[in-house]
Amino acid sequence: MDLSRFPRIALARLPTAIESLPRLTAHLGGPLLYVKRDDCTGLGMGGNKLRKLEFLLGEAQALGADTVLTVGALQSNHARQTAAACARLGLDCELILRRSSHATDAYLESGNVLLDRLFGARIHLLEPHQSRESAMEARAGELREAGRRPYCIPVGGSCGLGNLGYVGCAAEIMAQAAQENLEFETVVVATGSGGTQGGLVAGMQVSGGLAITGIAVEGDRREQEALAVRQAAETLRLLSRGEDDLSSQVTVLDDFAGPGYARPTQSMREALSLAARFEGLVLDPVYTGKAFAGCIALARSGRYGKDQSLLFVHTGGTPGLFGYPESI
Ligand SMILES: *Cc1c(COP(=O)(O)O)cnc(C)c1O
Repeated sequence: MDLSRFPRIALARLPTAIESLPRLTAHLGGPLLYVKRDDCTGLGMGGNKLRKLEFLLGEAQALGADTVLTVGALQSNHARQTAAACARLGLDCELILRRSSHATDAYLESGNVLLDRLFGARIHLLEPHQSRESAMEARAGELREAGRRPYCIPVGGSCGLGNLGYVGCAAEIMAQAAQENLEFETVVVATGSGGTQGGLVAGMQVSGGLAITGIAVEGDRREQEALAVRQAAETLRLLSRGEDDLSSQVTVLDDFAGPGYARPTQSMREALSLAARFEGLVLDPVYTGKAFAGCIALARSGRYGKDQSLLFVHTGGTPGLFGYPESI
């Protein structure tokens, strides 16, 4: 897939490795588990949002923006990666972050928030009931009036342009699988705002056809499938590709989300512990812990043979460990 007509800034260390998880595979008794290390994209402690930011900040720079705004939860990984990328590019960064009713010192000050400050971002803190999007619009208006050139990024960087990062990731997975002679039954990934899954689905439609299994970290299956379908459709439109029958290619499991966003679950704790103790692999409590719980459940389901393979995309988020130490 030729993405070269879109302005792009290299931010992520690519391609990310695909590693096997032999001790955990043996512990579970098969299928073969593999992990794609999108937590190791580098800049600002890495994560999946850097792939999206390559295209989003490419556009921002092409438009002559001087200030980048985005929205998220207080412990947003996306906001932290945006702040790091802006530091690297010499752009001002303003983050509109909404806190939840969670009120530990760690949540309010450590983890991603600590890093946002370190990267020099300006934080606008919203209360749980306030709208992030309208706050971002209002702030962008103020900046424009002051003669600045703001560029706004939607939550999670999820939109057709941002999702191209995961169209590229799909092609990367297919190339690595061919090179290393691997065949995956499905690719398992955390899904939140839906752009990562939507981009992968769009990318697989273009370059390979592996099934993608999204694991919801909040919300229910129907909501999250609708989000991912919408994100995939927007991405394919940008690529001038047909978007037929997308809903048959979007699967989300919602059994691992628990009571809501960033709310801990027992299966998340087990997933964090198994990944750490058998493989030295660090997951986070909000996204990858829940998603890997889904991956472990698939591995235990009996649906796959011992010689079949599953690929888990580690989307990052590890600074979140320090924002929610009591969840672990
Ligand atoms: C944002 C994020 C996701 C989800 O990606 P979406 O594109 O918002 O669905 C998954 N894992 C981590 C660690 C994230 O920060």
